[in-house]
Amino acid sequence: MGSSDWRKLDESDVRIRPGKSTRPRSKQRPAHADASTAMVIGKDRGRWTCALDGDPERVVTAMRAREMGRVSVVVGDTVGIVGDVSGKTDTLARIIRVDERTSVLRRTADDTDPFERVVVANAAQLLIVTALADPQPRTGFIDRCLVACYTGGLQPILCLTKADLASPDALMAGYAGLDVPVVVSRHDEEPEGLDERLKGRVTALVGHSGVGKSTLVNRLVPTASLAVGVVSAIGKGRHTSVAAVALPLPNGGWVIDTPGIRSFGLAHVTADDIVLAFEEFAAAAEECPPGCGHLGPPDDPDCALDDVVAQGAAKADRLTSLRRLLASRAGTET
Ligand code: ZN
Repeated sequence: MGSSDWRKLDESDVRIRPGKSTRPRSKQRPAHADASTAMVIGKDRGRWTCALDGDPERVVTAMRAREMGRVSVVVGDTVGIVGDVSGKTDTLARIIRVDERTSVLRRTADDTDPFERVVVANAAQLLIVTALADPQPRTGFIDRCLVACYTGGLQPILCLTKADLASPDALMAGYAGLDVPVVVSRHDEEPEGLDERLKGRVTALVGHSGVGKSTLVNRLVPTASLAVGVVSAIGKGRHTSVAAVALPLPNGGWVIDTPGIRSFGLAHVTADDIVLAFEEFAAAAEECPPGCGHLGPPDDPDCALDDVVAQGAAKADRLTSLRRLLASRAGTET
């Protein structure tokens, strides 16, 4: 297996194969057909916090059943759980199934772990929180988030904070070609229209420190600090870095905060994966020379995407945006 192949491997690629256990199954065990369905809302040291039927009032702690092996179970996953699902203190249920994911976000590989593991599953949206000033917006970061959305199956939303310090116009103009929804907030105001966009949906949040993400989470979920405390208390006395935690919105839906995640992994993403998210260019990309990076001249002088614009079948600013995302894929900015 070449290096490019092992990079693509991920524990989430492992399929569950029931019935391979050599240990005979006791008849007292609950039949898996009776498994309850739950949403994973927290994960800490081999224990998963799950909301039965997605109900934030019915929280159960579970371990991964032995027959699951090391299959990945992450925040946002829909799982089947059996055993004691009462949620009473000191009870522990077992996760026996992870349903197919509708979307994935992977974190970047780092020194302690060379794999880009899935950290959030099934989020419908990603809220990319960026300050307009103090700190300055980093378009490279936004672009990488957008690529993670387009290739992971999420709808991006740009949330621009601190509009009292700088105008959002220039930044918004840079993304006009992508039709990304934008919400703008000042430090003393609720972000306009944000509640409506989040209501009833599962939305992951990402942003660097100092952009106002924590303030935003506390506004959206008044009990957020309490909920995080509960999850963190599982590992009390030891340092824990919470990878992601799902918090219930008062009017339905969830926000998934990603405190330890500074950027999303894109090493597994190819240039063609990104182009596929731009329908009007997808067919033309197949006419490109083999290995075309679709960046256009001078890197890819024979790229067919320019023809699509020349023929009037796509807007030039869409291609400009697409190529900026393609360039950001290989970038190192976090
Ligand atoms: Zn091309």
